[in-house]
Amino acid sequence: MDSPLQAWRDTLEELGVMGLVREPVVAALKPALPASAPRPASGPALGPTRRPAEAPPRPAPRPAPAAATAYTPPTDPVGCPPPEAVAAAATLPELEKAIQGCLACPLGPGRLKFVFGEGSPQARLMLVGEGPGRDEDLQGRPFVGKAGELLDKMIGAIGMKREETYIANVVKCRPPDNRTPSPDEARTCLGYLHRQIELIQPVVIVTLGATPLRELVGLSEGITKVRGQWKRVRVGGREIPVMPTFHPAYVLRQYTQDVRRAVWEDLKAAKAWIDRPAED
Ligand code: SF4
Repeated sequence: MDSPLQAWRDTLEELGVMGLVREPVVAALKPALPASAPRPASGPALGPTRRPAEAPPRPAPRPAPAAATAYTPPTDPVGCPPPEAVAAAATLPELEKAIQGCLACPLGPGRLKFVFGEGSPQARLMLVGEGPGRDEDLQGRPFVGKAGELLDKMIGAIGMKREETYIANVVKCRPPDNRTPSPDEARTCLGYLHRQIELIQPVVIVTLGATPLRELVGLSEGITKVRGQWKRVRVGGREIPVMPTFHPAYVLRQYTQDVRRAVWEDLKAAKAWIDRPAED
């Protein structure tokens, strides 16, 4: 076996795929049109419904410090970019320029680097995480370090490259001690993510973990329960299918074959939707 094929096979096995079995994933999705994709409350299934992986529940998020509610944001247009400036940004670089000085929530003053997001401006697959961690804060890039390495492997396992996707977070600044962003912090930042989605127009969004599912899609159900089930979000007048899956950091903590395979299946379903025939 040549080395690239061996490396691909090693990656799949690392993700919990023990046998290389061809599965008709596109055919399984074919009957469902984007317009019939399930809405958070009801509706027919967009894609195949899968059993949640039997993984231990994620530890309860650490609460935001009480001091977060006492923060007084600046009022100047650099520290608190007005919605009109965000809406006026016609490209991702323009948007980054408009918001990179943001101090609108308590996370801003504590950051080392603003983590805007990165990837292809024409990405068909967009991945949305929670917020920058230590490595991301140091480098100003999303999903670097061990979680980023694992995410890259996951993307590679569905036959894509990281550069073909777009990766962003709900919040652009690192929460202290890697705590979960408070709802206020997330909602203060959410307009930036919405504008990124409007500019990129991805075919599918994969949410990584509970926070983007809650803040972007509006679902508070446990990620273990809803991962692998198609949802959708409306941004800029467009409804976009959303595939919730585990956060790579969770996968690293719960490094079981079930969890790794679950993420692989979720990403595989997202890829199948992207690759479906145009007439669908
Ligand atoms: S997390 Fe978002 S809203 Fe808060 S300061 Fe950073 S960019 Fe601004």
